[in-house]
Amino acid sequence: MSERAAELAALLARDELRRAAAYQVPHPPRVRAKLDANELPWPLPPEVAGELGRELAAVEVNRYPDPDHAELRAVLAADLGVAPDWLLIGNGSDEIIQLLVSCFARPRPGRARAAVAFPSPTFSVFRAAALAAGCEPVEIATDPERDFALDAAALDRAVAQARPNLVFLARPNNPTGTLWPSSLVAELAAAHPDVLVVSDEAYAAYAGDGMVARTAELPNLVVMQTLSKIGLAALRVGMLIAAPELLAEVHKVRSPYNVGALNARAAIWLLRGHRELLLARCAEVVRERERVAAALAALPAVRPFTSRANLILFRIGQPGDGRATAAWQAMCDRGVLVRCFDRPGPLSGCLRVTIGTPEENDLFLAALGDALAA
Ligand code: PMP
Repeated sequence: MSERAAELAALLARDELRRAAAYQVPHPPRVRAKLDANELPWPLPPEVAGELGRELAAVEVNRYPDPDHAELRAVLAADLGVAPDWLLIGNGSDEIIQLLVSCFARPRPGRARAAVAFPSPTFSVFRAAALAAGCEPVEIATDPERDFALDAAALDRAVAQARPNLVFLARPNNPTGTLWPSSLVAELAAAHPDVLVVSDEAYAAYAGDGMVARTAELPNLVVMQTLSKIGLAALRVGMLIAAPELLAEVHKVRSPYNVGALNARAAIWLLRGHRELLLARCAEVVRERERVAAALAALPAVRPFTSRANLILFRIGQPGDGRATAAWQAMCDRGVLVRCFDRPGPLSGCLRVTIGTPEENDLFLAALGDALAA
């Protein structure tokens, strides 16, 4: 049976997918500080969770959810300062990335495939989604010596040469924490009016400098945001902010009931009543980020990169010396889970820590200090 299934997969799955790896999330047995997924560390206060439970009890689970997400869009649009018809809701912004690449995948004249460009290193889903949609991924190099900065002229040249349909710019970027300036993105969009430029603002709550207001003046600029990084990752609510004429096409590839009614109701209720609490927690994470960055910089052989998100990328030792992987394992054994990027390439020797509660951050700093001293 399993052999037949493997043969079938080999026969039917596309070659580029067979060569790619699926998104992996490690689950070690005893986690004391989960600092690997860029989540906000605090759960809802118990009294808020209890009230939310009563609110959710009123949802009619025998009915399909509202395919237009009308109430959720109204709440989000008011927060963002846009008209509700400029918003499309996704099952997380992961789904929005997939929708964008599958919708705007028409090869340019004379080309077999559409290209999708993004800086490197960046969020792995841009590449995975491009491959899954049959597009050609194009990487644009950043400068690790300057905190993974993007050179404006090199970016412009790369886009002029590759002629991608879409350029994804995560601002701030994951996993580096770099905030490529909004002026760079606006100039790119203005210089290449036939390219869709996507400002992925998953971490906007930690950085500011969002570009939603610029979408009205730059028709080829679109913005993605999410509730995941402000404490609501379980809800899987992402949003695309773009002109209705662009959204009309994206709606054709979206499955109609892509966000469950319980999730939508929870998002509406929490944003109406508890948005300030969530944003205050993000501000606390920003303060902790600065404390953790300073503590990392004081450790021998550790180089943290400047971050504007709720994460810090840091290099241990020299690329290829294996110290980062050894430290990752030692921390994992003590229940401190961070993300390891220590493979050949621009992130060789690098680990990424998500900023947690002050106690979790202390656990992490102690575990890392011990691992490096061992
Ligand atoms: N964009 C970036 C840059 C991210 O880091 C992430 C999550 N790690 C996402 C998008 C996806 O977020 P979600 O699907 O939870 O909205």
